[in-house]
Amino acid sequence: MSKKTIDHEKVKSLVRELLVALGDDPDREGLKETPRRIANFWRDFIEYEPGKLDTTFGAVKHNQMVCVTGMRVWSMCEHHMLPFWCDVSIAYIADDKVLGLSKFARIAHKHAHKLTLQEQLVSDISEEVREILGTNDVAVLAKGEHLCMTMRGIQTPHRMISSALDGQFHKAEQRAEFFNLVNASCL
Ligand SMILES: [Zn+2]
Repeated sequence: MSKKTIDHEKVKSLVRELLVALGDDPDREGLKETPRRIANFWRDFIEYEPGKLDTTFGAVKHNQMVCVTGMRVWSMCEHHMLPFWCDVSIAYIADDKVLGLSKFARIAHKHAHKLTLQEQLVSDISEEVREILGTNDVAVLAKGEHLCMTMRGIQTPHRMISSALDGQFHKAEQRAEFFNLVNASCL
């Protein structure tokens, strides 16, 4: 995938224009550095580099469920360009290939660093984990809060939960074990 880059100068000038459109003075002391700070934020957000994602270890047959929970990521809602956070849980049935622990977080952060929706984020994470591990036995759950609902619109704190269950996680037993593990970790 080609690396995304932002037009830092353009973002700076657009933020300056936005401040004017909002009836403020972009040259006043408190706002002077604001366009640069915001452009820096978007650069860090969009150009995020997750590192190596696909370190797997071949091993003896494990046949156990591996579940990593509580991975907090921040993303941006594509409908409102406001932040949302999610606590992401990822599980898979480890057979003869296991995924390095940090890779789960890297994959979650990678897909969170763009304008997206929670549902899309969960699907993207699931797809990448399935691809890397070469198995469909993957479950992803995210529980998040969206500032577009908390601070605007209906202005109500909430938790939104979404999940993508594939392969063996379609079976009642595996599905129940996954949700038990997620609940056991209080997420
Ligand atoms: Zn939104």
